[in-house]
Amino acid sequence: MRVAIFGTGYVGLVTGTCLADVGHQVVCVDIDQAKVDGLNRGVIPIYEPGLEPMVKANHAASRLTFTSDAAAAITHGQVIFIAVGTPPDEDGSADLQYVLAVARTIGTHMRVPTVVVNKSTVPVGTADKVRAAIAEALAARGEEIAFDVVSNPEFLKEGDAVADCMRPDRIVVGASNPDSVALMRRLYAPFNRNHDRVVEMDVRSAELTKYAANAMLATKISFMNEIANIAEKVGADIEQVRQGIGSDPRIGWHFIYPGAGYGGSCFPKDVQALARTAQQHGHEPRLLNAVEAVNDAQKGHLYQLIQRHYDRGEDEGVRGKTFAVWGLAFKPNTDDMREASSRRLLAQLWEGGARVRAYDPEATEEARRIFGEREDLVFCDNAYEALDGADALVVVTEWKQFRSPDFVRLREALADAVVFDGRNLYDPQEIEAAGVAYYGIGRGRSL
Ligand code: NAD
Repeated sequence: MRVAIFGTGYVGLVTGTCLADVGHQVVCVDIDQAKVDGLNRGVIPIYEPGLEPMVKANHAASRLTFTSDAAAAITHGQVIFIAVGTPPDEDGSADLQYVLAVARTIGTHMRVPTVVVNKSTVPVGTADKVRAAIAEALAARGEEIAFDVVSNPEFLKEGDAVADCMRPDRIVVGASNPDSVALMRRLYAPFNRNHDRVVEMDVRSAELTKYAANAMLATKISFMNEIANIAEKVGADIEQVRQGIGSDPRIGWHFIYPGAGYGGSCFPKDVQALARTAQQHGHEPRLLNAVEAVNDAQKGHLYQLIQRHYDRGEDEGVRGKTFAVWGLAFKPNTDDMREASSRRLLAQLWEGGARVRAYDPEATEEARRIFGEREDLVFCDNAYEALDGADALVVVTEWKQFRSPDFVRLREALADAVVFDGRNLYDPQEIEAAGVAYYGIGRGRSL
């Protein structure tokens, strides 16, 4: 099938590449000319495991092309995806300006009946707005061309996006027109061979499904962080509690890790946007508000532990100290730092007068873009280099390579021989036996 995709970010680029990989003819459109030029030269703008060779192979086979020419892409596509960003507006609701701009562009250039598929995460009712924007642009040209708007939310995880896209748990298709459902089934048939993963529903339910999924996952994280904070106060170890509850199949092992708070481009903004939608419809979302508040507090928790350790009285605190920071990305296997917990921590350390030596396997370039050159920040080429001249280590992102460091080397390198572990990677007894003071999340250490 001939497919056009608007937006070559994490979702659009991965979706376009996977669709091309199974034989569809895909044209990806972006308004960012530099990104388009780079992609045409084989420069992949994001880090996503497995993506680069797939983009290159499908580009070389001419199944995947990149352009900023929206009109040409619209002419190409029997199916047109909208996969542009929906960042939070000032009040936390989803900003639909990019989605609606694409809708107007589609209405301006559409020549034949087309199915428009919305893949961006958007509030309930957005498909109606997209439909209206396309219809308005068509009317302005004096054209009447049939089209349908389908909701097909995306569930891929950054860091695992290619695998998620090639082997989806489910493919949610929100549509009222049976022809559109049939077309979507044909498009996704190559990903749907083992068993039927397509979940058909009405458009509004599909739009809400995406928010419900992310809100549920965020709730699990905030719940565990709440219990971790209680564990810390009462002298219990959240890691033992986690083992104790995860074994109940009704609870399960997934997504019950306490930590330094969730970040990324999805959970924070989606929980907020769902809360705003609820409020706009006269429902006070008490649970969602709490999920957000707990997470916001949790992002400051590592620094509280640090402050407690360095409570030297008289405003001294961390002033003059140097912290090695392992991990800047909001989670492992990505270079994405949107809403990352590291950003809060670094801001707090700098405010306290500390210096930072940071290492992240993939996010350094992004961090340089965000923070610029500053004398209290040094980027290092590997984890151990970050320890040189540092007083303490803070682990913020659970990259695999941080899981088994040489504790003796940590003790020798760190002037204060102390580790603040924001992801509970280490066994307190083992690290303390090597002579390193240890703080984890919810590990009864603050008594
Ligand atoms: P992104 O910010 O990485 O990429 C968006 C791209 O759209 C950018 O390259 C931008 O230049 C482009 N764009 C903006 N306006 C355009 C226009 N008029 N025409 C063509 N291109 C345009 O965004 P993302 O992370 O890929 O997310 C896209 C959507 O998918 C969001 O709604 C997000 O909530 C949702 N989503 C994201 C993820 C994720 O893990 N990142 C997962 C599921 C769903």
